Amino acid sequence: MAQQETDQRIDSGASAAEREDGFVADTEDAEARELAHRERGTSRPITVVGNPVLHRECRDVTEFDDSLAALIDDMFASQRTAEGVGLAANQIGVDLKVFVYDCPDDDGVRHVGAVCNPVLEELPPEQRHLDDSNEGCLSVPTAYASLARPDYAVVRGQDAQGRPITVRGTGYFARCLQHETDHLYGRLYIDRLSKRDRKDALRQMEENTPRYEIVPND
Ligand code: ZN
Repeated sequence: MAQQETDQRIDSGASAAEREDGFVADTEDAEARELAHRERGTSRPITVVGNPVLHRECRDVTEFDDSLAALIDDMFASQRTAEGVGLAANQIGVDLKVFVYDCPDDDGVRHVGAVCNPVLEELPPEQRHLDDSNEGCLSVPTAYASLARPDYAVVRGQDAQGRPITVRGTGYFARCLQHETDHLYGRLYIDRLSKRDRKDALRQMEENTPRYEIVPND
């Protein structure tokens, strides 16, 4: 997911350890972990709307090996180059259910992590409060549109070693978790917009130049 238009990056602090409440500890050592990933990785160009890999469900991750770890490193490197707060594997052309994130929550706390085979938890009605902030996507470069989504999200999946994890997000990070999970099921945020807003987002994309390298569509 693209950075919020007005968003300031906030540094705070980890490992894929589990906190006492059962949610993954993705705020600890956030800065150091993100740096280590992207320094090992190589930045790759970003696929854009129209590329078939973005419009179909990705394959489940079944091998939690060195090549998955290397992919995650490349995803962190690519995310940083494109100044994103979240990136799904199909956004660098890889057909696997994994996303990475580096995103502030409602309190400005930075969350850094990777999720394989994510599944979004259904929220009970009393926890469903819609927020209609602007949303952008590295695969729809330069475009933004307001999109209502719940302001709280819980995603279950696995870490890079295959251990089960649960990730919880508020505010912009909740939006990010939903946006990235959508990607891995072949869905872009513009697919959730009205016809008119979708057209407007695509027009914004046509009229502007991305600040990072993209994979041209045939
Ligand atoms: Zn996206």
